[in-house]
Amino acid sequence: MYVCGPTVYGEAHLGHARSAIAFDLVFRYLKYLDYKVRYVRNITDVGHLENDADEGEDKIAKKARLEELEPMEIAQHYTNRYHDDMDALNVLRPSIEPHASGHIIEQMEMVEKILESGFAYKSQGSVYFDVRKYNEKHHYGILSGRNIDDSLSNTRTLDGQDEKRDQVDFAIWKNAAPEHIMRWNSPWGSGFPGWHMECSAMSTKYLGEKFDIHGGGMDLRFPHHESEIAQSVAANGESPAKYWMHNNMITIDGQKMGKSLGNFITLSEFFTGNHDKLEKPYKPMTIRFFILQAHYRSTLDFSNEALQAAEKGMDKLLTAIATLEKLKTSNQSTVDVKSLQEKCFAAMDDDFNSPILIAHLFEGVKMINSINDGKAEINAEDLSLLKDIYHSFALDVLGLKAEDAGSSTGDDISADLIEMLLKLRQEAKLNKDWALADKIRNQLTEMGILIKDTKDGASWELK
Ligand code: ZN
Repeated sequence: MYVCGPTVYGEAHLGHARSAIAFDLVFRYLKYLDYKVRYVRNITDVGHLENDADEGEDKIAKKARLEELEPMEIAQHYTNRYHDDMDALNVLRPSIEPHASGHIIEQMEMVEKILESGFAYKSQGSVYFDVRKYNEKHHYGILSGRNIDDSLSNTRTLDGQDEKRDQVDFAIWKNAAPEHIMRWNSPWGSGFPGWHMECSAMSTKYLGEKFDIHGGGMDLRFPHHESEIAQSVAANGESPAKYWMHNNMITIDGQKMGKSLGNFITLSEFFTGNHDKLEKPYKPMTIRFFILQAHYRSTLDFSNEALQAAEKGMDKLLTAIATLEKLKTSNQSTVDVKSLQEKCFAAMDDDFNSPILIAHLFEGVKMINSINDGKAEINAEDLSLLKDIYHSFALDVLGLKAEDAGSSTGDDISADLIEMLLKLRQEAKLNKDWALADKIRNQLTEMGILIKDTKDGASWELK
């Protein structure tokens, strides 16, 4: 299984969590069924041109220039942050996590193969995929059901339009402008691989020319996955994956998430509650459960109410699992545990339907509570099966786990303490006690808490 991983240019947000959790569920369930799964998820750390970057400058390089850092220092920082967030969400690490920057040679070799097959051409130090020529023999758009002319209006306008034979062509190797920091020498000049190339080269390297599942977010279906198929067909003669799986997007209060809309909430902001849109901090497991309550192909809308409902639901489920451990057995059973197990398998076998699985687990909660209340009976064999259902489906497959017990978590308390210190600092400033105000700020900074002064006080975030 190959899944398109994060671009490590910034903090992970809810969209990253959804994609990682969707495929973590697939990984966990297939492993539970005893399949041997090699799960490859890449790290995009080669800067790629984006509309919003300054001309000829990639995102990582721009950030590096502004912050006077090595580009790899930024990529490493955000890779570490991504790992921290995913660990908190109990997302299993993939079997292989290849970095695009560590596979430049493989990408060049694939570019060479595509040139040899006649589906690419060189132009001023760049190499472009010849989409029209490819489309004469194959179908560019096979995955998304598009044809190349309706792709036109959706193709991002990148520089180098004049180097291309046709507007639909995409770069598989791009010559680097003088100010471009991330660059490698190639037979075509100094440059960097096109964005779609890394997944084609790395999936081929670690999973072969044909593998079972290729996953990623719905937004990657076109042009990214469409172009991956074209590259693989051109280089290897066949489409890379048997099954393509795409997780749907997350909206926030019905709107698309975006920096310009002010509803862009990072995972660490969710965990600390430090964002205007958040009524309180949310535990990583609440976010995980919230995401699993929707099928991966459905859209999912975030709201505080929805997250708080998820929080309550998960507490109920975890409380029942704790109760399960204390249940007493009888000589006979008045509950049907076997059919509960069958329903759980059926839900997961039906395209990894986690919301249906969760609904069945809640039916089981009623069963657990009525046995605990003495209204139903269970024998030893059924009890051990019931425990097995919850350990395997709730804990191993859904990947839920109990976090700190009690109504207030450590995170809640830490967040409250920081808020309290910021209020004290605000008071110190009002009293013109600058020494105390600075002391509070400096000590919080030393602890890795970044303070930002705003017009009505101060906000904070973890470094
Ligand atoms: Zn990809």
